[in-house]
Amino acid sequence: MLTVLELKGRSTLPQAFLDTLPTHCDTCGSELEITPSLSALSCPNRSCMDRAVQRLIALLKDIDVKNMGEAKCRQFLENFGVTNPYAIFMYEPSDGVLYPGCSMAFSEAIFEQVNARRSMALWEYVRAGNLPGIRDEAYKLVTGYGSLDDFYDDLEDGGIAFIQNLLGIKSAVDEDGEHVSVSVKASKIYTELIDHKEELFEALPFVTLPNAELPELNICMSSSVGGQWGKKEAFERYLKETYGDRVVVNVFKTVSGKCDALIWAGVGKPTGKVDKVLKANEKRRLANIENGVDEEDGLILLVDGQGFCDYIEANYT
Ligand SMILES: [Zn+2]
Repeated sequence: MLTVLELKGRSTLPQAFLDTLPTHCDTCGSELEITPSLSALSCPNRSCMDRAVQRLIALLKDIDVKNMGEAKCRQFLENFGVTNPYAIFMYEPSDGVLYPGCSMAFSEAIFEQVNARRSMALWEYVRAGNLPGIRDEAYKLVTGYGSLDDFYDDLEDGGIAFIQNLLGIKSAVDEDGEHVSVSVKASKIYTELIDHKEELFEALPFVTLPNAELPELNICMSSSVGGQWGKKEAFERYLKETYGDRVVVNVFKTVSGKCDALIWAGVGKPTGKVDKVLKANEKRRLANIENGVDEEDGLILLVDGQGFCDYIEANYT
């Protein structure tokens, strides 16, 4: 990544534009970096408070905790003198208020929200750290691992090539089969994971990971799933509470081939996601006929909330 100072030193861009760019982070004083497209500035200091605040905001969004905006996130981290966004999982009301000037009632309400979201898959935990470049790859990287220890053992043994493999990035190989190039993306992810190892392990005892022996189901949901649950967030909590000891349900934002089920309200106009599943299933059904396998094999289940509960009841006892 290019620093703003480097850009200013060698760019032929209009001086008026260059003059508008800040060169150092307001918070920690580090030299700011700028993306190649010149669209975003970022502070490269891993312990910069600004970066920690942004990661905490994203983490809270991921676990669906409301009422903690930017200013409150910053005050919380500053109050406890930490830059690890996972620290929110370690907070409890006996620590005192979240930050000076906020009420105990508010602190407890935030704690209750976090408390209700402690149960998550390992890959969701890694995603929630919102480390640059890792967020959207967390599933590919960590799924299949039952413990963070095992993941880090393989990461430290395998290095960048291990990441590259997990992401399916091909690299150039010479005639002896030795890798001669390294993926920049994999190398960045590797560095972030190594640098933040302590952060990830520090808060791990404060979340509840599913039993690694449990079977997994990958689902996607429309915004409404019908029945008593209405919104998908309520349904996701219900699934964890009701079936968490039988099956791990991974929730994805978009429908893809790795989805086992799409859950929607079941009534009204089919949503875009429903259309996508109908088309994918039709394609699969035709391929199955051609390949001589069971016509229903590998189809994405399309049901409402109740239908999905029935499916779990019937298949995972
Ligand atoms: Zn900074």
